[in-house]
Order: sequence, then structure tokens, then C-alpha cells
Amino acid sequence: MADVRIAVVGSGPSGLYAADELSRHGGVWVDVLDRLPCPYGLLRYGVAPDHLKMKSLEITLRRILEHPEVRFLGGVELGDRLSVDDLREHYDAVVYATGAAVDRTLGIPGEDLPGSFSATEFVAWYCGHPDAEVDRFTLDATSAVVVGVGNVAVDVARVLAKTAAELREKTDMSDHVLDVLDANTITDIHMIGRRGAAQAKFTTKELQELGELANADVVVDPAELVLDEASEQTIGSDRKVRRNVELLQEWAQRPQQGRARRIHLRFLHSPVALLGTDRVEGVELERNELDGTGGVRGTGSTVTLPAELVLRSVGYRGLPLPGVPFDERRAVIPHEAGRVLRDDGRAGEYVVGWIKRGPTGVIGTNKGDAKETVATLLADLEATPPGDHKADGIIELLDRRGVTVVTWQGWEAIDAAEQALGAAVGRNRVKIADRDELLAAAEAVLNRR
Ligand code: NAP
Repeated sequence: MADVRIAVVGSGPSGLYAADELSRHGGVWVDVLDRLPCPYGLLRYGVAPDHLKMKSLEITLRRILEHPEVRFLGGVELGDRLSVDDLREHYDAVVYATGAAVDRTLGIPGEDLPGSFSATEFVAWYCGHPDAEVDRFTLDATSAVVVGVGNVAVDVARVLAKTAAELREKTDMSDHVLDVLDANTITDIHMIGRRGAAQAKFTTKELQELGELANADVVVDPAELVLDEASEQTIGSDRKVRRNVELLQEWAQRPQQGRARRIHLRFLHSPVALLGTDRVEGVELERNELDGTGGVRGTGSTVTLPAELVLRSVGYRGLPLPGVPFDERRAVIPHEAGRVLRDDGRAGEYVVGWIKRGPTGVIGTNKGDAKETVATLLADLEATPPGDHKADGIIELLDRRGVTVVTWQGWEAIDAAEQALGAAVGRNRVKIADRDELLAAAEAVLNRR
């Protein structure tokens, strides 16, 4: 194939696996754009800081960005100063890899009370995302409720349960986050599943970690582990579900160790209202019963849990991109085998990751997903003569529009600055959360060259 230039919008795992797949083909030049000065998307700003093995995937993703035919352009956002048409003009194809950036809501009274947040906000804050307000969270509550029993709920419950000392030692969390965690007064963390134990979404490895915490006991009520025929069938056919239920049954029998915090794993309860006047004081839950099909029905009986902090962890949602088709119902970009579907049938745009398939699957799921999209893209390009696109074209355009591009060297400077901050206090890295500080770190080294 003659030389072609591709733009990938988003430098998280899905965008980088797409860039990797593309760069395996000779003559394919890839620019990976990100609105942030830093690459890696949800790996940097979503994966829990204490999940070190998962975080080490950064080494693999770094290699993709270091490929000679791949270029990182940070600080570049599709929007006012860069349109889809601009990208179409400067590249032979565009791949959208923008993930699912916002949370879903519960739609119940009291959800907007102070003290009620989305897990997405909390995760962004403790991961040092530049968009998160530094003083957004105080953990001066006694009781916290986490709604949902997926892996994100497990992440936030675990971060709330650990001591700041444990997290300081092992993670790159910023000082302002550790200061708040240091003052964390929460003793009880309630994770609430609306369906039964056999329908919980968390994976066993993640669940298991809750039982190994030095500072928290896990509390499970055996009465909430009831199983119906549908649950038994799932347990028989799904190893993850079987192991989850076995673990929960074991915990329901285990005596508590008197640790400082408790994580209560609750099932068969749906939040129906957040209570309180000036701030959240409790959560009203309706008891559910299994309906024999994997679902539940409400019983009409309710119970109130005290809670001064509520984090809803009920899934992510994709956001529309300006000028790009969007399926509002599913919150994804409509596509066929990765090719974006437009009413006018125009080709040349592609999609990967959560904004393609919805917020499901683990990071590795994005590899197969990227393969499908890139196969479609390359087959389309075989049939289209490449345009005469220059590498500098987009840089000149962004320059004219006043966009400061953070290059790979700029990111390496940020990376070095974070490691230096860490070295000064005996840690591997301390994350810089402030956007201006990130840009200053990027520019400091560039100016010395
Ligand atoms: P998720 O796995 O879809 O879990 C969402 C949870 O919210 C479910 O328990 C769901 O219950 C519940 N829920 C949804 N709407 C609700 C409502 N109105 N009221 C009460 N509960 C409600 O989503 P996630 O935890 O955000 O995770 C997203 C993806 O990232 C998943 O694929 C996950 O595995 C992945 N992830 C992986 C890791 C890891 O590997 N360590 C870490 C974090 C995230 P129902 O099942 O009843 O709908």
C-alpha cells in the first residue's frame, strides 16, 4: 500500500491498540491525538492506582507510541479549534477511540444532594485527572454507600477501605488525594447490588482482594445469598459466577476480625431515594426478590441505611463527539465492523473501544476489537487512492488555531517530572494533577532543547 496517514482520536488502550494494529502494516503513519497532555486514557485515569500489574501495561502502550510511524499529539481536542472536516482533510482515515467518559445516573430523588457523587468523579479525583477539582472530596463521613456491584464499585470500596499509608507506599497518588485519605473517617462501606449474588458483575480476582485487606473486614448476610433456579443454572454454567458465590458464602460464615473498617456486601436491594436536606444523610433501599429469570422484583418493603457519602457506580456512558454520528440510546457511535455509519454513506471514519461497543470488557478486550476495525479500514483504503497528506499539515493548522501541541518529548518531560517528584519522597512517582503544571513540565524540557 502507498503511504497513508491515519488519525486516532484518543490515546487510551483502545486507541493505542488500534495504532499498534495499524503500524504493523508498512506505509501506515499514525497520529494519536488526545485532548489531555498525557497519553494512556483510562489506564492512567481510571485503572485503580493500587492495581500495579494492570498499571504496568503502560510499558506495552509506551512501546506503541515509540514506534517510528506513530506520533503522539497531546492537548489536541476535537471541537472548536479542530473539526472532523479538518481531520478528513489531513488524513486518509480517522479512528475515534474516545471511550465512555461520563457516568450513568440512578434517576431517584435526592441524587443531587451534596455528598452524592458518581464513582466516575471519585475515580477521576483519586487518579489525579486534570479535570477533577482538587478539593471535590472530603472523606469526613462515617458511613459510605457504593451503589452497584461491578469492578468499579469494588475499586472505589477498596480505596475507601485502605489506609493512606498503604496507598502512599504503593501508588502514584497525588499529595492532595493522600491528605484527604489520611483524614478518612469512614468506618462502614456498603456496596449495594440490586440483584442477587449470582448476578453480580464483579470478577472473582477483584472480589477476592476485598477479603485480603489489612484494614477492613468483609461482612456478608447469608440471608441475602439466596439463590433461585436461574441463579443455580448460571452457577453451573459460569465459572466466574460459581467462584464469586462460593467466596461470598465463605465470607458469610467467617468471623469478623475487628478491623477498623467494614465492607458490607449487600444484595437484593435497590436504592429508591437519597435522604437528607442540606446534604445526604441516608439511602432508602427497597428489598427485592429474585424473579426466576435472572432479574428481580421489588417487594415494597424498605430499609434505610445511614450514609454521609454516596457513590453511584452503575456504569459509564459515552459522550457524542461534535460532527460525529451518535446513537443516543446506546451512547455509542453507530458502526458496521468498525466503519462509522453516516446517513450519506460517506466512508473514512472508524471507531474502536467503549465508544464502539459500550462500556464493557477488560483492557485486553480492545485488542480483538481494534483488529476488526483496522481490517475494515485497511480493506476500504485498498479501494481508495491515498491523498497527498503531509505530516506537518496538521501541526501547521493547529499552530494557526493557537493550539499548543504536547509532543512525545513533552510527555516524556512530564513523565520525568513526576518521577522526580516521587524520588524526592522515596516513591516511584507522584502524579501531577494540575493541567498548568503538566504543561509547564512539558514546556520546561522542550525549552531547554
Ligand atoms: P458494570 O460491570 O456494568 O457494573 C455496573 C453495576 O451497576 C452492576 O452491578 C449493575 O447492576 C449496577 N446498576 C446499574 N444500574 C443500576 C441501578 N439503576 N440501580 C442499582 N444498580 C444499578 O460497570 P462498571 O463497574 O462501571 O465496570 C465497567 C467495565 O469496566 C466492566 O467491564 C468492568 O469489568 C471493567 N472494569 C474492570 C476492572 C478490572 O478488571 N479490575 C476494574 C474496573 C472496571 P445490574 O447488573 O443489575 O445491571
